[in-house]
Amino acid sequence: VSSDQVTIGVDIGGTKILGAVVTADGEIVRRERVPTPGRGSSVAQTTEAISRLLEDLTGSHQAEAVGVAAAGFVDEGRSMVRYAPNLSLEDAPLRAELEKELDLPVVLENDANAAAWAEFRFGAARDADHLLMVTVGTGVGGGIVIDGELLRGRYGSAAEVGHLRVVPEGLPCPCGQRGCWEQYASGSALVRMARERAADEAAAHLLETVGGEAAAITGPSISSAAESGDPFATSLLTELGRWLGEGVATLAAVLDPEVVVVGGGVSEAGDLLLGPLREAFSSHLTAKGHRPEAAVVPASLGNQAGVIGAADLARRS
Ligand SMILES: [Zn+2]
Repeated sequence: VSSDQVTIGVDIGGTKILGAVVTADGEIVRRERVPTPGRGSSVAQTTEAISRLLEDLTGSHQAEAVGVAAAGFVDEGRSMVRYAPNLSLEDAPLRAELEKELDLPVVLENDANAAAWAEFRFGAARDADHLLMVTVGTGVGGGIVIDGELLRGRYGSAAEVGHLRVVPEGLPCPCGQRGCWEQYASGSALVRMARERAADEAAAHLLETVGGEAAAITGPSISSAAESGDPFATSLLTELGRWLGEGVATLAAVLDPEVVVVGGGVSEAGDLLLGPLREAFSSHLTAKGHRPEAAVVPASLGNQAGVIGAADLARRS
């Protein structure tokens, strides 16, 4: 694909499918979205939804290739979604189905990998060659770039950092194991901690902001209470940041990254999360004081990273 041609990036999320026409410089020139077909839907329904989205996008732009990012395990040939519990996709031959439908080359990628690639090429880590990206949303996702190459592993399942075990025999995880990092360091963990402690006196103000019901506490309600100085909400983000920082230090022992990019919805809390994260990272880093420390920075492409990364990976494949 030559540099003056556009490619298309698609990001299949739990509730919506985003599509965008993207230039060689990572600029989005047009975008659309459709709802993700619900639980129990077929691969054909997902393919149809993506086709409709692409018809809208290609109406005005002649794209040369399509990259599709999905929240799930993608096989080593980047042609199948092996397992994506939130998308009703299991052993789904999405690439073949879409290529047949679209008559364009298609490449599949895990969504966190695609986001990491976008931050590496055009975003917060564009000046680095070694990147660890941690995406803090409903779960904890990850993407790793080493020496300018995305780390996929032999079977395509590398960088599932959310399932690093941080607590022996800890909380059960939908992945089938216990004590996974995302059970302690994700947006879902943040909300769980807040609801569990909602009866504490300290939680009174946060509870008031959501109408008095513990079940109404959400990630954004915690972040906005923390931003307005609520000590309880702030302490929750501090705790989450510590869990994240400790995990990042463990990963740094293996990967030795140059930059750690923190993205995902919860990262919008900014320094309320990143401050404690940096502190915990630094204090748990092995051989601290005898090695350069990676910079921990916020992601810069927001929720468009997936489509931008997928489009760029399609261009390169
Ligand atoms: Zn797990």
